[in-house]
Amino acid sequence: MPLPTRAGLDAVPAYRQGRSAPAGASKLSSNESPHAPLPSVVEAVRERLDGINRYPDMSAAALRDDLAVRYAVDPALITVGAGSVEIAAQLIHAVAGEGDEVMFAWRSFEAYPSLVRIAGATPVAVPLNADHAHDLDAMLAAITSRTRLIFVCNPNNPTGTVVDADALEAFVAAVPHDVLVVIDEAYVHFDRTESRGAGIELFRRHPHVAVLHTFSKAYGLAGLRIGYAIAPAEIAENQRKVAIPFGVTDLAQTAARASLDAEEELAGRIDEVVVQRDRMQALLATAGWPAVPSQANFVWVPARERTALLEALLHDGGVITRAFPGEGIRISSGSAADIDRVEAALAASSPTPDLSVRKEATV
Ligand SMILES: *Cc1c(COP(=O)(O)O)cnc(C)c1O
Repeated sequence: MPLPTRAGLDAVPAYRQGRSAPAGASKLSSNESPHAPLPSVVEAVRERLDGINRYPDMSAAALRDDLAVRYAVDPALITVGAGSVEIAAQLIHAVAGEGDEVMFAWRSFEAYPSLVRIAGATPVAVPLNADHAHDLDAMLAAITSRTRLIFVCNPNNPTGTVVDADALEAFVAAVPHDVLVVIDEAYVHFDRTESRGAGIELFRRHPHVAVLHTFSKAYGLAGLRIGYAIAPAEIAENQRKVAIPFGVTDLAQTAARASLDAEEELAGRIDEVVVQRDRMQALLATAGWPAVPSQANFVWVPARERTALLEALLHDGGVITRAFPGEGIRISSGSAADIDRVEAALAASSPTPDLSVRKEATV
């Protein structure tokens, strides 16, 4: 007798983690922070270690209070999860089930389609435009009476593009109020456009917007798993019903609070990641691999049929990336040493006089 399987599960691909890196290689495959954790954060976590025999505060009250003050919102509107990917799942489960549709741009965050299918709902993927950015008009046109939730990943993973603030506001205003618009701002700290970080403002101005933030990327806590949403009251209440109890550890809550206290120090690190991102973008362009202008902590090279070639070339130079065969390659921004490696790998592959001159000049 075969073991039971849930109907529809064969349509769900297992989440594919960014490639692990052999010792000594530069792991630029998962958009992690290249920096070691801040000493103040490590110390705060260490102080809580002798309490791990106890369950954490399931409501993450202290952290939610900190966030409530920062954003001047009622703490009841804030929900915390084991990574914002868990919060994304909560939001989907809170509003959509069998027969309902959840929309997102494509290509975008790889977890969206699986999370939607796991909830029993139907994913609706609207292709990005020719600039690798959200096609908001096409997304509006794709709304049906069954649409329950729309993700806008801003900046978008893996293409690094942002949605213009005015265009996003017009989009949100045009979406019917019985559809929740979730603005996933996992990479908002790396956005250097003037209109950055519009999510919370949209939340304040519109009744059907939720904002998704994570401590994994800019704050460097990917390994501890913590993220949060700010959502309308009814949505937040239903998220608490579908959340897995005690999913967020006390150590993660502690590290998140300590990180909020260390934001100035973190800002310096974020600036460094942005500098290296822009440097990598320039290197790639010089070497004949133009990337899409990025506002995130990674760049996207739409290398199409040359994707495997670029992946192999970087791999040979000790740089591990995230490749989407036939489409493109996403390279996370890293430390200066990581991007030196990218530079060397590109130079090794195309020894143009131009590049060797640059190399000598920077050694
Ligand atoms: C990395 C990422 C997340 C969430 O990561 P967590 O570690 O689960 O907080 C959410 N959205 C996007 C678009 C991401 O790239």
